Amino acid sequence: MKISDIRATTVAVPLEAPLRHSNGAHWGRFVRTIVEVEADNGLVGLGEMGGGGESAEAAFRALSPYLVGHDPFELEALRFKIANPTASLYNNRVQLLAAIEFACLDLIGQQFGVPVYDLLGGKVRDTVPFASYLFYRYPDPRHGAAEVRTPEQLAAHAVALKRAHGFTVHKFKGGLYPPEYELECYRALAAALPEDLLRYDPNGVLSLAEGIRFGKAIEGLNNDYLEDPVFGLEAMREVRGRVRVPLATNTVVVNFEQLASNVLRRSADVVLLDTTFWGGIRPCLKAASVCETFHLGVSVHSSGELGIQLATMLHLGAVLPNLTYAADAHYHHLMDDVIVGGRFRYRDGRIAVPETPGLGVRLDRDKVAEYAELYRELGPYPYDRDPSRPGWYPLVPNDRWDDPAAELAPID
Ligand SMILES: [Mg+2]
Repeated sequence: MKISDIRATTVAVPLEAPLRHSNGAHWGRFVRTIVEVEADNGLVGLGEMGGGGESAEAAFRALSPYLVGHDPFELEALRFKIANPTASLYNNRVQLLAAIEFACLDLIGQQFGVPVYDLLGGKVRDTVPFASYLFYRYPDPRHGAAEVRTPEQLAAHAVALKRAHGFTVHKFKGGLYPPEYELECYRALAAALPEDLLRYDPNGVLSLAEGIRFGKAIEGLNNDYLEDPVFGLEAMREVRGRVRVPLATNTVVVNFEQLASNVLRRSADVVLLDTTFWGGIRPCLKAASVCETFHLGVSVHSSGELGIQLATMLHLGAVLPNLTYAADAHYHHLMDDVIVGGRFRYRDGRIAVPETPGLGVRLDRDKVAEYAELYRELGPYPYDRDPSRPGWYPLVPNDRWDDPAAELAPID
């Protein structure tokens, strides 16, 4: 089997409501690049990458001379061909490599008639647990989505998600409002969901003093972990030494060098593996093995996935023996998906691992056309801008918090 063609299509899929975070907002949709890698036997493997547009599509097209004629089984060769570690310092292709790795694994699985998890050592679970992912959000009356801003609204939102999908772990994305206000919100979650585990993730924007203060203030609550309260391995290590809550990261342990540092001088207890940012599913498995050896926890990070990327997270989650934490996913915020059969469904807070060959997802061509058209209509959105705060940008550590009483701008 040899690769014969590669195609990339940008889609925009609507969210239930625009989501706010420490750097800006998701403006009511996710923009993703759908990658199709075709082989000379007629099979098509699927990949996905965050973001999109002409430059992303051109970046995939530019890899065609590297890929056409390449055997999809030769995954290690692929890594060095496209993103060897020193050339990658300049060409920044790790995320492209990840999307192509997904597609190659999909091709191999289809060729053998086996699910991707069987290519990765076999599954140790049939379903993968997920956390709810709670954001402050704009209201969107078109989808019946209420605003989330106050502690009461946040708690009600979490309870509604638990009722709908069965979550027993809840991740609260903060870093938007002053830390003492977000602490109130976190306490409201703990009061509303006394049996459930909680995570707080301000995306590393707290100062060291605020991070320690926040961590100490939640010590008595039912915490799963505190995620990136501060930015940097050293700052995390300082918080970890002073706060009796496990620390997790998806920002400062995102490659093997940083993982080695974290083994030698522990800054984070839990590493969130991302199938895109680590360069594929297989690098995540390698990293998870290191974590297993050194008793670091692992979880699965979410980069705002559609169904193809979610499938990579499910196959990864299926084979990790040391997945002792629920995975993250933005997925429940989506209104739709581009895969045949529509969105994956949660049951008791878990999603079943696909059982059909390859990644186990196929493109719904009508949906791809519909959401490619929506992308052409709406275009990209600036992830690091919030429509209600024109001209604003955060510092790290931040002190330019939004005012919880401020009016929100209308958003499309
Ligand atoms: Mg995070």
